[in-house]
Amino acid sequence: MKKLMAANWKMYKLHSEAKDTAEALVKALKGAAPEDREVLIIPPFTALRSVRKAIKKVPGFALGGQNFFPSMQGAYTGEIAPDMLVDMGCSYALAGHSERRHIMGESDEFVGKKVAFGLERGLSMILCVGETIDERKEGKLAEVVRRQMLEGLAGVPADVVPERLTVAYEPVWAIGTGLTAGPREVLDAHALVRSILQEKFGQKAFEMRIQYGGSVKPENASEILSLDNVDGVLVGGSSLSADSFSKIVTA
Ligand code: PEP
Repeated sequence: MKKLMAANWKMYKLHSEAKDTAEALVKALKGAAPEDREVLIIPPFTALRSVRKAIKKVPGFALGGQNFFPSMQGAYTGEIAPDMLVDMGCSYALAGHSERRHIMGESDEFVGKKVAFGLERGLSMILCVGETIDERKEGKLAEVVRRQMLEGLAGVPADVVPERLTVAYEPVWAIGTGLTAGPREVLDAHALVRSILQEKFGQKAFEMRIQYGGSVKPENASEILSLDNVDGVLVGGSSLSADSFSKIVTA
């Protein structure tokens, strides 16, 4: 199972900047990316075409969408359909990122609709889950992660191809804050995620990837990636520069 090294560029980079960063990343990783790593770039929609061009035909690179609306097409002003992402060369998409849950108010149920519909339309899905600092302090981590996973995966068919489903554990208090979960916290949360996947999908759970996300940087990537049940990382801030993200990919 290749580790999935994902760069979430959020609402950063004009398309020319995205193109430059993607090209620099391809250059930095040429011959340097470990065989067991898959690099996924998730730029803003407006940069998908440029990034696609930059990574086209480069083995080990993939393109993803940050979001979509769970419908084929229709009168949904401002939204984008999964088929439009596929049409732009995306093979992955995110659902349930904490910024969408907490800023845009997306519910567990809506996130679940996206996961199921995205899979149906041919995308590999990354379901993001994670507790806020208050939930952690109140001892609710397991309850929150279980709820987000059960609702987020509710519509996923039992015969899903396991490689097409990834869960990203991203404690909300560690996203964009510079705070990182310590090894014990990551181990415990990832073991919990694996056990919930196992309850739902049986042995297939061991072929599904679990990413860690939350202030991953070149200095802590190697330790995080060496932990049990960590099958990749989802990186925001430190993925914006080709230099730091290439160091994370090769960590
Ligand atoms: C993210 O956007 O999913 C993320 C983890 O951001 P950061 O790496 O900046 O904490």
